[in-house]
Amino acid sequence: MNIALVAHDKKKQDIIQFATAYKHIFSNHTLFATGTTGTKIADQTGLDISCFLSGPLGGDQQIGAKIAENQMDMVIFFRDPLTAQPHEPDISALLRLCDVHHIPLATNIAGAEILIKALERGDLHWREIVKENKKE
Ligand code: PGA
Repeated sequence: MNIALVAHDKKKQDIIQFATAYKHIFSNHTLFATGTTGTKIADQTGLDISCFLSGPLGGDQQIGAKIAENQMDMVIFFRDPLTAQPHEPDISALLRLCDVHHIPLATNIAGAEILIKALERGDLHWREIVKENKKE
């Protein structure tokens, strides 16, 4: 599965800890991230991550483009709901595209725990079916 990881600055430590805790699951999948988030997670965990641009420079939109092309299977986005973000429209657009395309999305650590455990159990195999059907 292709998984996108994003964390706002005040949540970066949380996503590093999350990726560390579930490294054994993440390492079986293809990981993408916005620039700073991805670099930090890769440095701290050794996970292989393809980094897009930093969020404020267009990274969220790059993830959105992957979703629109049916190439992203899950988005884990640790949002900071207490700090204004300069690229708020890009964030809303990314979350909206998850809803448009029915992409599993967690915006906080509690939801992310549920998603990652579902992923490990194989509950998200339906994404492979959707991808196959859309190719035809
Ligand atoms: P960053 O972007 O990983 O480059 O910090 C995240 C964001 O703020 O959307």
